[in-house]
Amino acid sequence: MKIVAIANQKGGVAKTTTAINLSAALAEQGKKVLLIDMDPQGNASTGLGVSLDQRAATVYDLLIGEATLAEVIVPTSTDGVHVLPSTTELSSSDVQLFNINKRSFLLRDAVRHPDLAGMGYDFILIDCPPSLSLLTVNALVAAHSVLVPLQSEFFALEGLSQLMLTIREIRQTANPDLRVEGVLLTMHDQRNNLSQQVERDARDTLGALVFETVIPRNVRLSEAPSFALPALTYDSDSKGSHAYRALAKEFLANNAA
Ligand code: ADP
Ligand code: MG
Repeated sequence: MKIVAIANQKGGVAKTTTAINLSAALAEQGKKVLLIDMDPQGNASTGLGVSLDQRAATVYDLLIGEATLAEVIVPTSTDGVHVLPSTTELSSSDVQLFNINKRSFLLRDAVRHPDLAGMGYDFILIDCPPSLSLLTVNALVAAHSVLVPLQSEFFALEGLSQLMLTIREIRQTANPDLRVEGVLLTMHDQRNNLSQQVERDARDTLGALVFETVIPRNVRLSEAPSFALPALTYDSDSKGSHAYRALAKEFLANNAA
């Protein structure tokens, strides 16, 4: 079982879109996936059709030890994709109240639990909030690797250095084995010079860390959540769906053996 945090402190770079559609694409390949929604906005939960009624217990209750994994995990309409949902109840300031030695380890302690090992998940993807708050730190401490979505726009690379610093700090302290899974270019527009420039800069600077797969700008990806479905189900043959399938294949190849 591999745990991957999807993180970038910038909002609107396609963290949640990637969490939902990579989960769905891995499930299509026969993998069993648990998506942990670490964003109090709960967009990943909503986008996968988990209603508020189904969020009586959330990742917050799990973190504070008031619910078990089995009580919190919700199956979705996508076969092979389960969600640990969140609501606005999940706030970084509450996590902040925990004993200083423990508060970065709450998610890790929850997911490295023997109960979870027995549930048969191949991958756990963690959708992070748009900040480097304690919630993101919890995700980075719990994870084996970080997947970083990067929107194809000016200044995209500048924001990366802060995230990389945080990753380095966490490696030096709580999680020495944390790896960068890859940087994913999202909302790419092949006809746009700026998009091409960002891709060139990213590949020049980061080399093999950048996924070969690039996610194009595609309206189907942005429409799907309002139908409470992954794009792969909402419009299976859309460009966006094909791109996330290609990403899943590349991701699985990188994780083979
Ligand atoms: P984040 O989780 O990083 O804040 P989201 O996944 O919520 O970002 O994406 C931000 C917005 O951009 C959403 O409205 C989403 O539907 C849209 N979006 C994401 N990826 C694409 C894409 N490749 N093409 C078009 N719209 C996209
Ligand atoms: Mg999000």
